[in-house]
Amino acid sequence: MFNYPESSITVFESLDLAKKDKNNIFLSLSDSLPREEQVPFAIKDNICTIDLPTTCASEILKGYYSPYEATVVKRLTKNGCFQLGKTNLDEFAMGASTETGCYGSCLNPWNPNKVCGGSSGGSAAAVASGIVPFSLGSDTGGSVRQPASFCGVFGFRPTWGRVSRYGLISMASSMDTVGIFSKTLEETRWVFDTIKGFDRNDSTSYDAKKKVSFKEEKPKKILVPNIEKLKSFTESYVFDSFSNLLSEVSNEKVEIEEVDFDIFENSLAVYYLICYAEVSSNLARFDGIRFGPSHNQDVASWRKSFGQEVKRRILMGCHVLSEGYRDSLYEKAIGLRGSFSSILNNWAKEGLLLLPTTPSTAFDLNSKKDPLSMYQQDIFTTVSSLAGVPAINIPWGKHNGLPYGFQLSAGANDDESLINQSVWMNKFSK
Ligand code: GLN
Repeated sequence: MFNYPESSITVFESLDLAKKDKNNIFLSLSDSLPREEQVPFAIKDNICTIDLPTTCASEILKGYYSPYEATVVKRLTKNGCFQLGKTNLDEFAMGASTETGCYGSCLNPWNPNKVCGGSSGGSAAAVASGIVPFSLGSDTGGSVRQPASFCGVFGFRPTWGRVSRYGLISMASSMDTVGIFSKTLEETRWVFDTIKGFDRNDSTSYDAKKKVSFKEEKPKKILVPNIEKLKSFTESYVFDSFSNLLSEVSNEKVEIEEVDFDIFENSLAVYYLICYAEVSSNLARFDGIRFGPSHNQDVASWRKSFGQEVKRRILMGCHVLSEGYRDSLYEKAIGLRGSFSSILNNWAKEGLLLLPTTPSTAFDLNSKKDPLSMYQQDIFTTVSSLAGVPAINIPWGKHNGLPYGFQLSAGANDDESLINQSVWMNKFSK
């Protein structure tokens, strides 16, 4: 157990706070009270629990109780943690604002007129508003790092495979990971140590057998995207603060090297092609027979069980996998993904990759109606997802009272060292 000094007070205050839940953070709350020594945590509602429903914020899973519990939840519960409740998300984790779920939008705790980011927005908001010390989310293309940036907390995406996905409802399986939100890096590390490792229920999980203790580690080199290009993709306050950070880091005698920007721009298109394809295959199980309000329903009303973004991705996925397009779209994307992975892992041999997590602070609710403008949010997060490497949002500064963060990314399986180097980098946060 990590040392959570105010645990008993916080537990009961938290329950009270959670019940008020003005920000629409929670979709369901546990009825039982925790024992005094237990630490409460919140769980994104696409991670299966037995005692609470698992809905993915979708009409099709309203009231659904999973017959089994996710391995990550089991491991935390076994180690002194208490499930406080299930948090709001974009429907089936598709989005970057936590506005597309059937239960409504989750509001940003720093300003209720702003989104809290997504898709794991509820889990980020629950930590930011002090309801829980940590929470679980899922990160396919940035859904832990981006809301962490908008809510001002740490958001960690581990190397794909190091944490079991058993019980995480799939979106794009080859990139889906369970991620961690917390207010300190000690907590991030403790939760990661508790949930990581081989699980016989997930054949893609493994034990990386890393014996690295939690400590401060100075990066040997920092790699950053071409600064001129970066300027045109970020708001000026993010860019200026990024440039200041680079000077502070180089004053500490850490070498800084610029790398090509194109990989970030291209990764967005590659991510969405692969994501569409995997979504259309994974969501085929929600066919109106096995799940959802299938009885006494005609096809037209059953189709309403899915929101717009989910339908869009299923249809686009069928398209990119169809004969005639499979080679020119899907296969091409898979080829590029392989090269992104080699590039990122080669860079990681030289040093850490440092990027803004988001181009700006949180945007206004209901302001991104065009799907492409929502997708643009992921410009700095998708490349590490495609490469399967670990990445973390470090809460950095504030602009007009709203937080934003920077992102560090390392090579595959260097999760522990990434957290340690984040401790060093965190010294510069404002
Ligand atoms: N915003 C990205 C998307 O909509 C990421 C989602 C995620 O990581 N679950 O695909």
